[in-house]
Amino acid sequence: MKKLDKKFIEERKKDLLERKVELEKELAISTDQVADNDYDAKFIDLGDKEDENAAEVAMFEKNLSLEKTLELSMYNVNKGLKKIDEGTYGLCEKCDGPIKPERLEAFPSATACMACKEKSL
Ligand SMILES: [Zn+2]
Repeated sequence: MKKLDKKFIEERKKDLLERKVELEKELAISTDQVADNDYDAKFIDLGDKEDENAAEVAMFEKNLSLEKTLELSMYNVNKGLKKIDEGTYGLCEKCDGPIKPERLEAFPSATACMACKEKSL
């Protein structure tokens, strides 16, 4: 298989690091970090009136769904960075085959090739 060149990997690393900074910002707004790669949705206390309680619940539910999405993205970004360090970046986790560079360019944190991804859907 054709190895990804160094420059390509360096560029993806930059993408991943940029994405990480964005995710950290988004996570800080809607969650509290409780551990490495573990976040809890923020619960904001607005007051004790009925409409305030309703707003609290609505906000918490929104944060909860954001937390899941952001946490997963963060997990994948960190995994991508780790793979770059380990020299396994660009390999599909399922079949060990190469992930197309175009796919990595669009999704630098992709962990599976298109064929495996489609199979798992
Ligand atoms: Zn695959």
